[in-house]
Amino acid sequence: MQLYAKILIGMVAGVVTGIAANFGKIVWLQDTLRALEPLGDGFIRAITMVVIPLVVASLLVGTASLGDIRKLGRIGLRTVVYFLLSTVLAIVLGLLLSNLFKPGSRIDSATRDSLSAQFAGEAAGKLDLSGKQPSYSEVLLNVIPRNPVASAANFDLLPLITFTVLFGAALSVLPKQRSAPVIAFFDGVNEASMVIIGWVMHLAPYAVFVLIAAVISRFGMDLLQSLLLYSAIVAVGLFIHTYFCLGLFVRFLSGMSPWLFFKRILPVQLVAFSTSSSNATLPVSLETAETRLGTSNSIASFVLPLGATINMNGTALYQAVAVMFIGQIYGLEFGLADQLKIVLTATLAAIGTAGVPSAGIITIIIVLQSLGLGSQLAAGISLILGVDRILDMMRTVTNVTGDLVCCAYVSKSEGEMAVPTEAELSRLKQ
Ligand code: ASP
Repeated sequence: MQLYAKILIGMVAGVVTGIAANFGKIVWLQDTLRALEPLGDGFIRAITMVVIPLVVASLLVGTASLGDIRKLGRIGLRTVVYFLLSTVLAIVLGLLLSNLFKPGSRIDSATRDSLSAQFAGEAAGKLDLSGKQPSYSEVLLNVIPRNPVASAANFDLLPLITFTVLFGAALSVLPKQRSAPVIAFFDGVNEASMVIIGWVMHLAPYAVFVLIAAVISRFGMDLLQSLLLYSAIVAVGLFIHTYFCLGLFVRFLSGMSPWLFFKRILPVQLVAFSTSSSNATLPVSLETAETRLGTSNSIASFVLPLGATINMNGTALYQAVAVMFIGQIYGLEFGLADQLKIVLTATLAAIGTAGVPSAGIITIIIVLQSLGLGSQLAAGISLILGVDRILDMMRTVTNVTGDLVCCAYVSKSEGEMAVPTEAELSRLKQ
């Protein structure tokens, strides 16, 4: 059986087991799942450990082999414009749905106060974390690393990408006999990292099962009732953006059949869903783009790490709905000017969101603050914290899908996309 079919079975089994443990209040099953959870975390660690060597090696080899620095500029511009426009589109969709269904206006004050009280401690913790967030100018400056080794050690992908791209570009202007050994070395690192990913992915079906079952078995079903409309709007918005808007982009920007595209990227979506982390999913995205979508290494190795760091369509949509929801609960009417402010600040907040679990609920503070909700930050966040993990799983799927759509678009626009047929794919697996 193909790996992705096994991962899919793991996911379905995880959902069913989680729901059984939760609804059936089967305590031993809940305890077992909790005890097994470290296995899932071990899987996340194992794929995350390959991210730095893989990103550095594949990006370096990719940039060095571009052959033309102008091409790098063109790819960079297309990528960034695509990221910005698709993020704005996601936010507008989130705002449209929130205006249409007004999820916050149906929450009474008793529910509001009990939610606030239940999650006040956790919300305060998130606020503490956000206190350490840098200012906008620091964010811009941080793109330039002082020490690339420190960036790698701290998992700061953006400065690491800057350095690696520069290094690759520098290699490309060196005489061949000087650059060839360096490129050959990193090529080897790249290939070896891919082999490790191949090994680790054999554990994916079990890890996906454990991670999903554990989250669902713990989930407060009573919470879902009061936050049902809000959660449904986020979920429906993410679904429409992922499969309709991004599907259209796939069709018209990369000329690929959306059906085939989504079939090919399913393993990436499943790993994103179970890990809630764009960063942890990055090795699988890279492998999928190159082997299953047929994009070129130089483009995938540039677009995907950048996307995992700054392109967060799902997070942006979620933040737009969440902010409207909180505003509506407090009886605030956000007019056109305020909603334009949401478009702007949620775009920045999504760019600043790290590709790790729950990062989006911290950067949402930027959006809330811009709307003058500064004094209700903790209370506002505590309203939505209870369902955050499940929504995080869903928005991460949208985030990584957006990165892959951009990768297909840029590859196609550079004439470097050759989608393998099913026969070629199965030959590759042998
Ligand atoms: N978990 C998301 C990601 O890694 C970020 C978020 O919290 O929205 O893409």
